[in-house]
Amino acid sequence: MADEYLFISDCHLNAGRPDVTASLANFLKNRAIQARFLFILGDLFDAWIGDDDPATDYAEIFRCFKTLSQNTDIFFLCGNRDFLFHEVGVERIGATLISEPSYLNLGTERIVLLHGDSLCTDDQDYQQFRKTVRTRDWQNDFLSRPLSERQQIAAGLREQSKSAMQRKSMGIMDVNQQTVMGSFVEFDISSMIHGHTHQPAIHHYDGGKTRYVLGDWNPHPSYLSWRRSQGYKLTDYRV
Ligand code: MN
Repeated sequence: MADEYLFISDCHLNAGRPDVTASLANFLKNRAIQARFLFILGDLFDAWIGDDDPATDYAEIFRCFKTLSQNTDIFFLCGNRDFLFHEVGVERIGATLISEPSYLNLGTERIVLLHGDSLCTDDQDYQQFRKTVRTRDWQNDFLSRPLSERQQIAAGLREQSKSAMQRKSMGIMDVNQQTVMGSFVEFDISSMIHGHTHQPAIHHYDGGKTRYVLGDWNPHPSYLSWRRSQGYKLTDYRV
């Protein structure tokens, strides 16, 4: 399907979930290969501590991406778990790094691509954390530490985030509707595609505005496709 666009996010690859890695490998070999473009909208990895990590656990899935990249153009936009997956990292999956927000023209429509965490403004603690870790200073300091220390820090952050998520309500971790409506105006678009919330759905708003939300992989695939002749289709066993 020469004009097909595919969108995925939130695979949260990690050594402890070989079923997710296998599911993604299968998707890359058998489904994504049919598409012209594959967009990864963040949190491909459960954690990424720097492009100098040999990440041997991912050798096989990196090979699958590389093979796919000979046929399908792959783009990667960082999530909150893999915002340190930079130019050298994306090269290992044969992808091109794109910044947030990124814009696309699909058919006659201009759309915006986001990871989605920037829309969750009810969670102020998280937004503060996000601001800190996205600064050059924080990243340079973190990346200057040995890999083993970075691994420890990342594990600590994951534990913190796990216990914080148990304290927080579901509502606070979803998008803020005012922020969403403001984003349609700010980005001057009528549709947005994002992940992060792990709540796959297609939301329609007044004025012909639409928000496409990608799901996580657990290990079932979750992806959005777009083709001129068919429009959008969200494939996820939950919807
Ligand atoms: Mn996320």
